[in-house]
Amino acid sequence: MIRTEHLSKRYGSLTVLKDISVEIADGEVISIIGPSGTGKSTFLRCLNLLEKPDGGSITLNGTALLAPGTNISDARKKIGMVFQGFNLYAHLSVLDNVTIGPRKLLKKSKAEAEQKAEELLKLVGVAEKVNSFPDELSGGQKQRVAIARCLAMEPDLILFDEPTSALDPTMVSEVLAVIRRLAKEGMTMLIVTHEMEFARNVSTRIFYMDEGGIYEEGTPQQIFESPQKEKTRAFIHKIR
Ligand code: ADP
Ligand code: MG
Repeated sequence: MIRTEHLSKRYGSLTVLKDISVEIADGEVISIIGPSGTGKSTFLRCLNLLEKPDGGSITLNGTALLAPGTNISDARKKIGMVFQGFNLYAHLSVLDNVTIGPRKLLKKSKAEAEQKAEELLKLVGVAEKVNSFPDELSGGQKQRVAIARCLAMEPDLILFDEPTSALDPTMVSEVLAVIRRLAKEGMTMLIVTHEMEFARNVSTRIFYMDEGGIYEEGTPQQIFESPQKEKTRAFIHKIR
């Protein structure tokens, strides 16, 4: 589905990502864990081209995203992103938040976009809020609307950057339940998270990021039960 080769990113003299080469298959759920400041967000932002990598390549379903002549906006439609801070449009209703992308970018009719939006809002459990505005929703509801908005674009891949970090503890589980359901349905996802129990249960693989790269990767069992490298061990030990 998506592959990076020797991906690197610098901010001025600070090298944030160096030489990241990974391959993620259709239907995989990857949780990305690691200390803050190790480039987890930057990695996701490079994958969906919110940041321009300084070197290396990204290939999405056979299309080289960084090659000259590639239509970046087409490629980006295939990659959804869900942020810690929801990023809903405050001046638009829930329905309009979910339909604006499909209408403007996928050229769907209003009726078709609204029908799909209603299905998706039902799927994430906020159907009754269809005519509300973001500031009338709880954090958990906002994040579920953000997930519905993302799904409405029919992405091949969804990137989640700490989707529950801004939520009260009582709302974390309702958002994780939605992500778990998408995993069961076979959605390909990369999830930066501090929810270790969730990461362990939902993921096909775990990427532990440190020192500007994927320092260690493996199955949840490998990473949580028997990490091979020093820093992974220290991190896993500390969060226990
Ligand atoms: P993480 O998500 O793992 O906490 P980030 O990807 O946010 O890490 O940041 C990695 C490093 O890059 C940090 O040292 C951060 O300060 C730096 N960084 C992130 N974004 C920028 C930016 N736009 N300009 C300069 N430095 C940045
Ligand atoms: Mg981050």
